[in-house]
Amino acid sequence: MKPTIVIGGGIVGLFTAYYLQKEGEEVIVIDKGDLEENCSTGNAGMIVPSHIVPLASPGMISKGISWMLSSKSPFYIQPRLDRRLIEWCLLFYRNSSAKHVQKSIPFLKGISLFSKQLYLDFIAEHGNGKINFQDKGLLMLYKSKEGEQEEIEFSHLAKQSGIAVEVLSRKEVQKLEPNQEVDVRGGIYFPDDAHLSPKDLYQYLKQYLQNKGVKLKSNLNVTGFEKGADEVQAVLTTEGRITCKQVMVCAGSWSGEIAKMLGFKLPMMGGKGYSFVLPNSPQLMQSSILTEARVSQSPYGDKVRFGGTMEISNRADSINLNRVRGIYESISNYYPKFEAEFPQNDQIWKGMRPCSPDGLPYIGKAPKWKNVAFGAGHSMMGLSLAPATGKILADLVKGKAVDVKLAAFAVGRYTHY
Ligand SMILES: Cc1cc2nc3c(=O)[nH]c(=O)nc-3n(C[C@H](O)[C@H](O)[C@H](O)COP(=O)(O)OP(=O)(O)OC[C@H]3O[C@@H](n4cnc5c(N)ncnc54)[C@H](O)[C@@H]3O)c2cc1C
Repeated sequence: MKPTIVIGGGIVGLFTAYYLQKEGEEVIVIDKGDLEENCSTGNAGMIVPSHIVPLASPGMISKGISWMLSSKSPFYIQPRLDRRLIEWCLLFYRNSSAKHVQKSIPFLKGISLFSKQLYLDFIAEHGNGKINFQDKGLLMLYKSKEGEQEEIEFSHLAKQSGIAVEVLSRKEVQKLEPNQEVDVRGGIYFPDDAHLSPKDLYQYLKQYLQNKGVKLKSNLNVTGFEKGADEVQAVLTTEGRITCKQVMVCAGSWSGEIAKMLGFKLPMMGGKGYSFVLPNSPQLMQSSILTEARVSQSPYGDKVRFGGTMEISNRADSINLNRVRGIYESISNYYPKFEAEFPQNDQIWKGMRPCSPDGLPYIGKAPKWKNVAFGAGHSMMGLSLAPATGKILADLVKGKAVDVKLAAFAVGRYTHY
């Protein structure tokens, strides 16, 4: 039997391999990295059915421009004369409309709820001990009047769309954090969100797949394809060719380059973010987003991870300490008694979010190639949507009906742009 090749061993690639293996496929996962650290290992670990509004939305452009002026702000585009970046920015601008948001909501809601259910099924099958899954909801905290207005507007939209949501006063927020003073006006609570430890999930899945006979190949770069009339026959790598039955492209922010090898356009940019883990003292209990700072806070017992910033950049390896300082300084702004020390360089994690210009992932069959599918471009929701993406791709490969509406995620939607 020829294998199905998954290009990219981030969380989306691993969940794709997981569901393909369950379907009885022989699977090889290829990754150009070490399969230890990538965008999927140090993120905030949040599973967010509440996130029904895509990144490309009204207000993002004006906010983005004002943020560009501060070196510590949560959003930055590294200016450069790059045709791909200019095209991406134009598409992002065009998509940042109320109409796009309204159109996207049913699609994001459908896939997000499906993915949360798959996480619950996963925990039921594998147990929770390994991945620190905490089904405790998510708090969106705000300090300012404008922040409050924005979040309450969003809570109305979520409610209309059938998402469970509660508006909490400062006192009610404080009840959820009994050990720690929280200096906010209030917060929005999404009880159906959850969080887990991304690194532990990643390590667990890798081990599970290996035990099931899935081959995981690290430090192997995909450089091209051997193509027939409408099928890919082999994947070309830095160490030779591998014949294949099908190809699943889950290459994160590099998926646009793979699409180019296959002769079509898939606009994608890397949105770099940082995170660091600190001792959790006094202990925070509730995963939260510090909304004005765009900083995430995910507690794991005696440790807590803070993360944030979105730098549209092509430099995956560099660390901008000013932006990390921006994250760090926001901690005492919201939690004045939190005992935080600025992290050492080797404690700072960085990852490139795969960002499409409309804030929606690319999921499904590739244009032209019958045996190629993509699962990429999940931006801030890759961990959250990984099980659903993997399951959908495995079902498509097997010719099974897919329950989730996929039209908005079409892989070829920018082919002719
Ligand atoms: C600070 C921060 C916080 C975040 N918090 C959350 C959160 O709370 N919840 C959430 O859902 N998401 C969150 N995200 C986003 C999430 O991390 C990403 O969406 C997700 O990790 C993307 O997974 P992926 O598998 O698509 O890509 P990746 O993890 O980037 O994996 C892609 C892999 O493809 C490989 N690859 C690329 N090109 C090739 C090639 N040519 N040949 C071989 N291999 C190749 C790469 O080496 C890489 O390992 C956060 C991101 C950041 C930065």
